[in-house]
Amino acid sequence: MLKDKVALVTGAGRGIGKEIALTLAKNGATVIVNYNGSKESADKVVEEIQANGGNAEAVQCNISDYKASEEFIKNVLAKYKKVDILVNNAGVTRDNLIMRMSEEDYDMVLDTNLKGAFNMIKHLSRSFLKQKSGKIINISSVSGVLGNAGQANYSASKAGLIGLTKSVAREMASRGICVNAVAPGFIDTDMTRALSDDAKESLNKMIPMGRTGNTKEVADLVLFLAGSGSDYITGQVIGVDGGMS
Ligand code: NDP
Repeated sequence: MLKDKVALVTGAGRGIGKEIALTLAKNGATVIVNYNGSKESADKVVEEIQANGGNAEAVQCNISDYKASEEFIKNVLAKYKKVDILVNNAGVTRDNLIMRMSEEDYDMVLDTNLKGAFNMIKHLSRSFLKQKSGKIINISSVSGVLGNAGQANYSASKAGLIGLTKSVAREMASRGICVNAVAPGFIDTDMTRALSDDAKESLNKMIPMGRTGNTKEVADLVLFLAGSGSDYITGQVIGVDGGMS
């Protein structure tokens, strides 16, 4: 399905990003597995892809750093000549009530979740526009759609990603490039495992389907958006949240 396609997935050493990388590779894409701190697990993702006959490479980059991102994309384009599928998945939380939220925690979350996606799209935009095809998939969140008490920084970053998605979709539509956002609900990963039992219980009560989602359920939607079946879909925010939104 994705034979001859090159995919770049940010934050792909763990969690949802890892599942997306494995899924795109299983469907034939060559995958650049970006990581920031988790070298060992990113290397394992690459090994798993290669053991299954696929192509992948782990590349370190702190995507919140504009200059480092520019260098990263320059090297990727020098080696692979193109990127067909960009998945902006890397994300962090630093939860607190607004009254107690530090400036550092606000900036850190915005810099990673929103500016990180800007950095990737900006540095790849010339290449995407030249090749007149491509898929950009931004991993937003139900928190960006509905808001969430205790997550003002995170919700702002994820709502910002939706604005970024819709604007870039309009800019790139005439060149055949699709830009969409995926808004997962409560997915079982390190990010949500860190929540207190009380927080998990109250979150579970908000899910009409009565259960948390898994990484495969997000990756399957990303696979659809990465493939040709979604060629006429752009500027959309698609929830994968058990009915939460
Ligand atoms: P995890 O905490 O399990 O993983 C986060 C990933 O982001 C890691 O691979 C990490 O890389 C990467 N990352 C963080 N900062 C940077 C950075 N500066 N540069 C490059 N990579 C970075 O989170 P999830 O898998 O749960 O989340 C993935 C995405 O899905 C996030 O954007 C999150 O906001 C979103 N999401 C998750 C939900 C959930 O319920 N889990 C719900 C809705 C959205 P490394 O370890 O190498 O530092």
